[in-house]
Amino acid sequence: MKNTNPLPAHDWPEFLPGWVWLCGAGPGDAGLLTLHGLNALRQADVIVFDALVNGDILGWANPDATRVFAGKRGGKTSAKQGDISQQLVEYAQAGKRVLRLKGGDPFVFGRGAEEGQALAAANIPFRVIPGISAGIGGLAYAGIPVTHGAVNQSVTFISGHDPQGAASNLNWRAISDGAGVLVFYMAMKHAGVISAALRDAGRASNEPVAVVSGASTAAQRVLETTLGTLVSDIEKSQMAAPAIICVGRVVDLRKTLDWQAMVAKI
Ligand code: SAH
Repeated sequence: MKNTNPLPAHDWPEFLPGWVWLCGAGPGDAGLLTLHGLNALRQADVIVFDALVNGDILGWANPDATRVFAGKRGGKTSAKQGDISQQLVEYAQAGKRVLRLKGGDPFVFGRGAEEGQALAAANIPFRVIPGISAGIGGLAYAGIPVTHGAVNQSVTFISGHDPQGAASNLNWRAISDGAGVLVFYMAMKHAGVISAALRDAGRASNEPVAVVSGASTAAQRVLETTLGTLVSDIEKSQMAAPAIICVGRVVDLRKTLDWQAMVAKI
């Protein structure tokens, strides 16, 4: 049975059998899925989804679709990247419409590029549906803009660990000098290394930092701290992944831009 709830009038792409669509689901709040994402869900035969994908979104899928959990989550790897890519290839070769649904944006620290390469190598046609990345939209849910005209002209997005799991192989001097605002993904484990490296490279100990966990979900938590107190405050707060760490003066704007606090008062 197809889900017949109509999408708004638009020339929606048809999901052809044997194709894979790599789709971002946004950072958490189901409403942050794009309409292209919804169009994909309505047509997919197989949905291969990650741990961070909101369950409500899966509920919008064609009820007949096969749902396959490919849960990878920092440290708790339950499916290897190569296996996931191979699965996508096999479902597509079996003539399925395969939706690969990922948290945030598939091309931002999301392995979507690697999966696209694997599909290309196997001659599987694919489409990419961008999503709202946690480092932008997730911070917006905490009232933190990644730019403000009077504060910064640039932002750097950084993964808190490299493919070997370390945080140390970055050019900290360049990162420190390069942009007023630094947005770290997957950085909780190495928050201490990151905070020390940035201070060694010249960023001030009292520079504002925010840690936002579960951004845009009901479990969202926001910690406002500084580079110098980051590690001890994370420990005290017992905040855990998934979290974004944002370094820079835009964090202070939360005082006036924390719109969720206004929503909570209604
Ligand atoms: N493709 C995703 C990022 C995947 S890497 C995106 O574009 O958002 C996984 C990391 O994303 C987590 O370790 C965390 O740093 C961040 N992240 C994802 N969802 C998040 C959320 N709801 N709140 C805070 N951080 C989140």
